[in-house]
Amino acid sequence: MSDLHLTYRCPACQRVKNQPGEGSVDQDWCTMADYVKRYPIPAPDVLLSEFYCSECSASYDRLVEYSRATQSCFLQQ
Ligand SMILES: [Zn+2]
Repeated sequence: MSDLHLTYRCPACQRVKNQPGEGSVDQDWCTMADYVKRYPIPAPDVLLSEFYCSECSASYDRLVEYSRATQSCFLQQ
């Protein structure tokens, strides 16, 4: 039986998703240190998938929109 915990880590802010495997992706995100405090597991046993947290994906979306707007300005010239 494996003791591995699967959760997500945001590659932008390095926080990990609080509730592994269930619920929506909008749940709390915390630091790795907080995560292993909450779940008494050694950090190497945590399996991480990359997933942008809601905050970072929101700012990423803004960034994409901004670069699109900038690009279309260039194209119109
Ligand atoms: Zn993030």
